[in-house]
Amino acid sequence: MNASFLQTPIEYLKGVGPNRADLLRKEAGIFTYQDLLHFFPNRYIDRTRYYKINELQQNNAEMQIIGKITHIKTVEQNKRKRLVATFTDETGTMELVWFRGLKWIKESLKINVPYVIFGKVNWFNGCFSMPHPEMELMEEHEQSLRSAMQPVYPSTEKLSNSGITNRIINKLMQQLFLDSKNKFSETLSKNILEELKLLPKNESLFNVHFPKSQVLLSKAQYRLKFEEFFYIQLQLIRKNLIHKSKIKGYRFEKVGPLFNTFYNAHLPFDLTEAQKRVIKEIRNDLGSNAQMNRLLQGDVGSGKTIVALMSMIIALDNGFQACLMAPTEILSVQHYNSLVEMCNNLEISISLLTGSTKTSERKIIHENLENGTLDILIGTHALIENKVKFKNLGLAIIDEQHRFGVEQRAKLWHKNEFPPHILVMTATPIPRTLAMSVYGDLDISVIDELPPGRKQIKTVHRYDSNRLKVFKFIRDEIAKGRQIYIVYPLIQESEKMDYKDLMDGYESIEREFPKPKYQVSIVHGQMKAADKDYEMQRFVKGETQIMVATTVIEVGVNVPNASVMIIESAERFGLSQLHQLRGRVGRGADQSYCILMTSFKLSSDAKTRLETMVRTNDGFEISEVDLKLRGPGDMMGTQQSGVLQLKIADIMKDGDILKIARSYAWQLLKQDPSLTNPENIAVKNTYAQLTRYKNIWNYIS
Ligand code: ADP
Ligand code: MG
Repeated sequence: MNASFLQTPIEYLKGVGPNRADLLRKEAGIFTYQDLLHFFPNRYIDRTRYYKINELQQNNAEMQIIGKITHIKTVEQNKRKRLVATFTDETGTMELVWFRGLKWIKESLKINVPYVIFGKVNWFNGCFSMPHPEMELMEEHEQSLRSAMQPVYPSTEKLSNSGITNRIINKLMQQLFLDSKNKFSETLSKNILEELKLLPKNESLFNVHFPKSQVLLSKAQYRLKFEEFFYIQLQLIRKNLIHKSKIKGYRFEKVGPLFNTFYNAHLPFDLTEAQKRVIKEIRNDLGSNAQMNRLLQGDVGSGKTIVALMSMIIALDNGFQACLMAPTEILSVQHYNSLVEMCNNLEISISLLTGSTKTSERKIIHENLENGTLDILIGTHALIENKVKFKNLGLAIIDEQHRFGVEQRAKLWHKNEFPPHILVMTATPIPRTLAMSVYGDLDISVIDELPPGRKQIKTVHRYDSNRLKVFKFIRDEIAKGRQIYIVYPLIQESEKMDYKDLMDGYESIEREFPKPKYQVSIVHGQMKAADKDYEMQRFVKGETQIMVATTVIEVGVNVPNASVMIIESAERFGLSQLHQLRGRVGRGADQSYCILMTSFKLSSDAKTRLETMVRTNDGFEISEVDLKLRGPGDMMGTQQSGVLQLKIADIMKDGDILKIARSYAWQLLKQDPSLTNPENIAVKNTYAQLTRYKNIWNYIS
């Protein structure tokens, strides 16, 4: 069936008038024949069996029964009318009951004609009854496109109240299949169909709407899920390839003296194998003609900073500048300090630019950037202001990219004639299958190994009532020379309350840990940047033993001597946030601890989150649980991602199909990049249509 048939507006389908069309559009997003065809059932009911009335049980199950209506009456009770029909078969009698639409139903019911009824059976007043049954004349039942499994389509209250019941959708679907004569063109190549033993398109569509058996239904679903993933991946990978062939990047040909000196003489530790592999991947990108667009995933503490530095040094060796953008002031300062320290013996000039950089300093930075004497610029959003102009920016690195909007990233592109190479780093690991979709157009590197000698962070869950024991533990740790974080939640909606909690907490900590023996720092978002920095530095230098903070310290802060992370009201934090916070400790050689404090009242999701944190330190495992709890739509930074608006496949449950689909899409594009091979004609056509009618590129950064 050709494309234009499927693009026919839905009101042209027999059985759909202007009213129904309107409802279908508004309530179900069905505008065209194709939308209806792709309106998939969300479950199926087994209607292979017909029950006799004397077999009915008091179990509220949904049953299918053949019988006749012998009598209809209207009953009035408490001013409410209901319609009651007596329904019989050769084994007994039951009642059918309606509370709404009495007049219309009464007129349409036929007496003494065989019906097939379907619905939930109730036991009421010593008699079986079925409220609002689905009814079909036996005669029609025998003729209609009947299948073993009855599809149940997603519905809304408006739809069902307006008479667009499941049965009506089913009828419309039948009409569509009749009109099309089930001649839907194949959309996958013969190769793929044969290799994966997929059901043809026709049969798949038919069996998803009118399954002939359980087996055929599963096969149909598999094929359609594969196809859905396949075309998304095809678009993503194609975008990546086109990007590489069209968007010229600066070619960093050499690994020069700076890199070699650093590598041979100033490397502060041996790189892990994972770090080496990732640096190699980045070097390959930088050495090619194409602009790099790479995502670097690595759990907290896996050592992404050194990878960033070495990549920037490659840019410098090739005569370019580099920048590193971080989401918060604290993190920028931290990066700045550690990079300055690592580059101590190298001739590299590094500056820091944030919102609180003084105007006079700012002027110098602007000048040095433009005349090229400044090599590396580190900072916050201040980096992407229009005033900031580079002489030749070759590499831009973005830390914790999920904190930045797409537009902010895009701004970095326009700092030069060619866009700089881009490396985005994230410590919020997302499950591989989700990454394939959300970042499917980026190249991905993963640091999947922690530096040696790290001890697992011991995580425990404690109730508020155990606070005194926790205080004792803190005292003991401080006596050993360690430092402590205590973090309070800060949620925008209840900011005032949260600040009060924070300040109350701070005061009680100061009482419990009095000066001069103990020194306590506090850092929160309402403080001036300079004060924040001052407090932070005191803690970094070890002048204070306890840091009381809101989540401003969540990202990236590195104080290896801090060994205890206490999270107050831990039930209010999301899993990835808890994991990020915990990542602030365990950075030195000492055993570290994370204590999750909560009240007794916990939701079941909160319990799962806490149990997960106690069970594992593995960021990828945690992100899998997070995905299951929250669903892909809510995962950080993935909200508006169109690639997650799937019609039949499920990113969480169908990850295996996704992997296969992605590898087939890669293979196909490798062999036939512009889809000119005649055997790929079906793919080519489908692809062209997809990008014509619904371009997923719009959704993706
Ligand atoms: P993240 O990936 O969270 O940004 P960092 O780059 O801040 O991690 O590294 C965490 C800590 O581990 C730092 O103190 C860093 O110096 C140290 N580190 C990184 N790589 C190694 C390594 N290969 N061997 C030993 N320590 C390392
Ligand atoms: Mg970091």
